[in-house]
Amino acid sequence: MKAMVFEKCGLPLKLVSLPIPPLKPGQLLLKVSACGVCRTDLHIIEGDLKEAKLPLVPGHEIVGRVEALAAGEDHKTSPFRIGERVGVPWLGQTCADCRFCLSERENLCDHPKFTGYNLDGGYATHTVADRNYCFRLPDAISDQEAAPLLCAGLIGWRTLKLAGEGKRLGIYGFGAAAHIITQVALFQGREVYAFTRPGDLSGQDYARSLGAIWAGNCDQMPPQKLDAALIFAPAGELVPLALKASEKGASIVCGGIHMSDIPSFPYAALWQERSIKSVANLTRQDAVEFLEIAGRIPVRAKVNLYPLNEANQALSDLKHGRFHGAAVLTMPDPSP
Ligand SMILES: [Zn+2]
Ligand SMILES: [Zn+2]
Repeated sequence: MKAMVFEKCGLPLKLVSLPIPPLKPGQLLLKVSACGVCRTDLHIIEGDLKEAKLPLVPGHEIVGRVEALAAGEDHKTSPFRIGERVGVPWLGQTCADCRFCLSERENLCDHPKFTGYNLDGGYATHTVADRNYCFRLPDAISDQEAAPLLCAGLIGWRTLKLAGEGKRLGIYGFGAAAHIITQVALFQGREVYAFTRPGDLSGQDYARSLGAIWAGNCDQMPPQKLDAALIFAPAGELVPLALKASEKGASIVCGGIHMSDIPSFPYAALWQERSIKSVANLTRQDAVEFLEIAGRIPVRAKVNLYPLNEANQALSDLKHGRFHGAAVLTMPDPSP
């Protein structure tokens, strides 16, 4: 199999040939067809997240087809058949035994493993995944469009859920998660107010084209106060800005895994039952709920395609905001 491998901070990913890993009980061998490129991959490669296995195959928005089941398993014992399409998200494994796993909060598991971080991921022609953390994908959505649903969509969905039912929804940082969650929020009958970097008129136009009722700079006040705000950009200074733009009782939910420091702000900005929360990871129940609604809408992800061996370019374009929507790696075919 071919893979783009992360060896050390500061080095670009390297295209290498690797042996196909042997399967442990319960694992699936997948032939990858598409893998999304997430901002978390950038945080791993740039060293903001420090617990990556090394060397590592990044990538946790994987769409593939089952090529083999573990020894001794067949269609009677495995929930997935050979050839079936599955998606693999960030949550790669949990312990099923800690107080968080035992209280339906497996996203906070004490001993988790994450795809493309502690486990090899999908920047590769093949990958291995635990079948208990794989999902069927909606038929109405292509492989390439389904890839960004597996993190941008899922984490976005959990962020939206934690924001509550408010009608006027602010979204700060209009990237992959925002462009998916805007579609879900509109489907639910909410209004979306999109906030971008100051002067990013193209991003604001893009948000309006998706149905945002208003789009502006992140330091602007929206025409109506927000009932809730989702912050997807990794910039701590957005938190006080979102508080300032929000109505009494609003929830401000930070959807990223990493964020710069939040500047101090007066208590009066938080008072009146405003709250600030973070989202960590996802539960498998989030995936079941989100993939169902994503198929029903159906969500249309805007994908910018890169061949596997151009993963470094995709990461650089993501870092510098050179595209709207999501970057997705496609695999060479036929896979050697
Ligand atoms: Zn656990
Ligand atoms: Zn991600």
